[in-house]
Amino acid sequence: MDAVPLLDWGDSSHFDARATRPCCLCGKPTPMRSHADEAVHKVCAEEWNAAHPDEPRRYTPPAPGRTQHDVGTWRFHNDGPTTPTLRRPAVITRHNPQRPAPAGAGDQDGLFAA
Ligand SMILES: [Zn+2]
Repeated sequence: MDAVPLLDWGDSSHFDARATRPCCLCGKPTPMRSHADEAVHKVCAEEWNAAHPDEPRRYTPPAPGRTQHDVGTWRFHNDGPTTPTLRRPAVITRHNPQRPAPAGAGDQDGLFAA
């Protein structure tokens, strides 16, 4: 069997010290939380990702000279910046810095779907 890709969940927001809740996948108590605040063991989330290869994926944002990397599914993904769209990360483009950004584009970090 291939190795299951591990999630980078180093951010403290994944650990709820106030309470354990039943894992949404295995039902056993866990203090761990997904980005959507689902109670889930990290290993259960990693196994779910591996078992659902057709789920919408998230990727690192596009940048010149850097290949985008798969960082997990929309449901369970790594910490850090990821693409803001569900299914079409390939059409995300960065603004041409020579042209002024349209009004309101600044809060999207120059990313938009074509
Ligand atoms: Zn679990």
